[in-house]
Amino acid sequence: MLRGSPERELAAWWEAEAVAATKAQAAKEQVRVDPGAAGEPERKAGEEQPKEPAPAPPCAAEEGDARIPPRPPPTLPVSLAKPEPASGLCPHGKSRIKGRSCKRSSGQPDEYCSLRPVTVDSSKARTSLDALKISIRQLKWKEFPFGRRLPCDIYWHGVSFHDNDIFSGQVNKFPGMTEMVRKITLSRAVRIMQNLFPEEYNFYPRSWILPDEFQLFVAQVQMVKDGDPSWKPTFIVKPDSGCQGDGIYLIKDPSDIRLSGTLQSRPAVVQEYICKPLLIDKLKFDIRLYVLLKSLEPLEIYIAKDGLSRFCTEPYQEPNPKNLHHIFMHLTNYSLNVHSGNFVHSDSTSTGSKRTFSSILYRLSSKGVDIKKVWSDIISLVIKTVIALTPQLKVFHQSDIPAGRPGPTCFQVTSASSQPEFLVLTRLSLVSLNANPSMRIEHEQELSPGVFENVPSLVDEEVKVAVIRDTLRLMDPLKKKRESQSQLLGKSLASKENPPHSDLASASQGNANPDAHLPSICLKQVFPKYAKQFNYLRLVDRMANLFIRFLGIKGTMKLGPTGFRTFIRSCKLSSSSLSMAAVDILYIDITRRWNSMTMDQRDSGMCLQAFVEAFFYLAQRKFKMLPLHEQVASLIDLCEYHLSLLDEKRLVCGRSGTSSGSRLQPSGTPQEAAPPAPPAEGRPQPCTDGAHKVSHSRHTLS
Ligand code: ADP
Repeated sequence: MLRGSPERELAAWWEAEAVAATKAQAAKEQVRVDPGAAGEPERKAGEEQPKEPAPAPPCAAEEGDARIPPRPPPTLPVSLAKPEPASGLCPHGKSRIKGRSCKRSSGQPDEYCSLRPVTVDSSKARTSLDALKISIRQLKWKEFPFGRRLPCDIYWHGVSFHDNDIFSGQVNKFPGMTEMVRKITLSRAVRIMQNLFPEEYNFYPRSWILPDEFQLFVAQVQMVKDGDPSWKPTFIVKPDSGCQGDGIYLIKDPSDIRLSGTLQSRPAVVQEYICKPLLIDKLKFDIRLYVLLKSLEPLEIYIAKDGLSRFCTEPYQEPNPKNLHHIFMHLTNYSLNVHSGNFVHSDSTSTGSKRTFSSILYRLSSKGVDIKKVWSDIISLVIKTVIALTPQLKVFHQSDIPAGRPGPTCFQVTSASSQPEFLVLTRLSLVSLNANPSMRIEHEQELSPGVFENVPSLVDEEVKVAVIRDTLRLMDPLKKKRESQSQLLGKSLASKENPPHSDLASASQGNANPDAHLPSICLKQVFPKYAKQFNYLRLVDRMANLFIRFLGIKGTMKLGPTGFRTFIRSCKLSSSSLSMAAVDILYIDITRRWNSMTMDQRDSGMCLQAFVEAFFYLAQRKFKMLPLHEQVASLIDLCEYHLSLLDEKRLVCGRSGTSSGSRLQPSGTPQEAAPPAPPAEGRPQPCTDGAHKVSHSRHTLS
């Protein structure tokens, strides 16, 4: 439960938008499908799904597969294929004035005609190319499919930040995002948050990191089984760098000797399997939500009003030793199920093996599911997940785009996959995050044996084009310019008694609102809109700001021993009970352990997670007996207080600007907006050394 019960507020806000979308879906349903279908009891799998003539062929990799060559754009509706210039605009988006070319507007100031279309480099868009092309045409922007010698406003990359060397403009990838969403990294980031806020982060299934925690995994499962012999759990093993369900398998017994070799050697995450998923047509399905991280500093998050639900293709049964390996029953990945003979490519958004999330909501709402609550849970899950990721992302960001060096602004569309649980959607679990969700809007169809053709996929097109187009609209770098130009023109015309160019005025309005022909934006801001409710969770973010400040040499991601000492000294954390020698030992001890675990040999030094562990240790020493998150918050307050004094002192000495090591400094949280008041340092906390030791080991983060 969130502080101050924001569910109601969140839901109220969403109601107008998402519920309206569900209602719109309802209207569509009445036209497209049997109106009674939603209220009917669950049917047998496959009953309402017409079979495809033949199973789809092996499909190219779904998520950002670098092997897939760019394809020609799919056939477009006539209106999209040849976009007509908006009335009053020349093809370049400039005002068209009767009898005059847009180049010379005879007497009007240049600004009135200086609007140019936004330029987009799509040369590295890969599998998102088709959806991107449609989006650019709808926006009447200019695409550079082979790149451009001059800089573009926006670069759209299919895989990673590093697809192009860019020094300006905006790019649709954050450095480090691909690493962040790897199974182990995500689990570690969420685990830190679970240590601080166990209730708030209980949406992530209990996980162990292999091979490091294999023994712990076996021992903990055995312990619970001993206490409750009726507990018959199932676990899902996910290879660390896997995607699209590759290499995933289920196990019942962690100590099964046949598996222990693999479990003890391959880096993976093993997770409690959600055994009672919500079913539709007796099939398991998931929810894929599209999330735009618009900015890291300040944090800005948007969620798409509609997403996708991907269905399994074999009726679900609770896991048992006989069905454990039935991937079409247990895994919802499109890339796997498309190979099943039961996969249904549908020409509607509400049937088949891939459907819009709004069609699912519509169906569930008719069965009494509280849609507002579902959306409220989704918003909360997404914000909390992003909050868990941003600290490490900031470290990547400052390393790739150090302060003071030219670099692009980043944004990124990611997807969060969630597993709704049994009966009603009262519990949503996060199962994975994807840095490069598939933006393909077509699928392959076998026309005759061995002859394949790409055909448009209605459900993909409906959801994904809207997500890309509206992401571009939100990132539009010329929006402000266009608006101010139009205001200028409006004023100029209003000042004349008889405006000579009334068509110019209307043209300017066309420019002011070039989106008039587009649907309302499908992406809704959830942060900072709900910052008040969630800012208290951003403790690790504030720790990351401290970490980055002491990194010293720009471009590194690990803190050296001198940096750590400087941090301790600057924040006045050493004392008679914590000597600098003890600080050095703490540094060496934690750093060595983390480096052996992460096997990351790129830099030597202390990574952010190791710093967080050291910080927890220091917080527990200083503020005993409080819950961990309060200990940590108190120590952060103390550090920020001492650093703000230091900064003030430097300012007075005329040496301001030399203290900060990062342009990603303030996080915009209330605590950082102003210099903190002196925290209640060393409040009397009755605690014995023994209690402290127990507490430290409990919060070891690996
Ligand atoms: P990938 O990134 O390889 O697709 P995921 O973590 O998304 O891996 O898992 C693949 C599929 O496995 C999911 O789409 C979901 O159907 C299923 N799955 C994953 N984790 C769980 C879980 N904890 N409980 C039940 N099903 C899960």
